[in-house]
Amino acid sequence: MSEKLTIGIDIGGTRIKAGVIDGKGNLSGQINEPSHVDRDYTELIEQLQEIVKHYRNISDSEIAGVGLAAAGLMDSERRVIIEAPNCASLVGNALPDDLSEKVGLSVVMDNDANVMAVGEGISGAARGSRHYIALTLGTGVGGAVISNGVLIRGIDGGGGEIGHFPIDRKGPLCGCGARGCLEAYIGKAGIRRYINRNHPQFKDIGLKEVNQFAVGGDGAARDVFVFVGRTLGVAVAGLVNIFNPELVVVGGGVAAAGELFLKPLRNEVNKRTFKAYLTSLEIRTAELGNWAGVIGAAAMARF
Ligand SMILES: [Zn+2]
Repeated sequence: MSEKLTIGIDIGGTRIKAGVIDGKGNLSGQINEPSHVDRDYTELIEQLQEIVKHYRNISDSEIAGVGLAAAGLMDSERRVIIEAPNCASLVGNALPDDLSEKVGLSVVMDNDANVMAVGEGISGAARGSRHYIALTLGTGVGGAVISNGVLIRGIDGGGGEIGHFPIDRKGPLCGCGARGCLEAYIGKAGIRRYINRNHPQFKDIGLKEVNQFAVGGDGAARDVFVFVGRTLGVAVAGLVNIFNPELVVVGGGVAAAGELFLKPLRNEVNKRTFKAYLTSLEIRTAELGNWAGVIGAAAMARF
């Protein structure tokens, strides 16, 4: 008999990505299609049902379970989404239970930052590591801490919200309502604010293009990524001092700038952490890109 497979489905505001993984974390059968999450809940459930049906049809091996990744705040059991700014139809529904009832498989769910961290640990940049911190730089700043092989959840399941790590008592107002959170500086809106204030020539161009200018050697464009790296470095240094990880993995759109922000990030961490921690610490970019969520969600369905 061949080995069991699990399905991972990453539900985004505009796209749904899915795939199956085997016991080694190998991903296959990728799907990337428009998401029905902005329509009503029933349509979304139907879409997810179709995806599960598709994998059952094409797989020779048994499907053992489904893992869902979604952006939003979940209850401590991770069965109901309480808040989801980009996926309003999900809020208040017991998505894993409803899907489980339709497809007759066990269904688990977790937030996008946690599944990304697990995915990178299964078959990406943190493969084999038991002590690492994962960060995603996108519209917001997502994060997760894995300590001694365990994802830190805290009592309410809200652990690892690194984007809301305060780095300045009086800093700018964050989307969460507090001041001076990391996300208020290096979330998309925060970076935009920095650009508009310091490099208005980039006011009307996207971050991707600023990145291209930076790669081409433009000093002002490079400064944007130095700002991101140094600011992130302050928060990472704090986390290193608390968790003493061996690895910090940074993914998301901004991470495409690679060494342009990693170098200032490392410099900042080096200045602010105990020297003894630095010998075992590595900071690098994520490897799985947009598929980390699918792999992580599918891996969570195996446990
Ligand atoms: Zn915040």
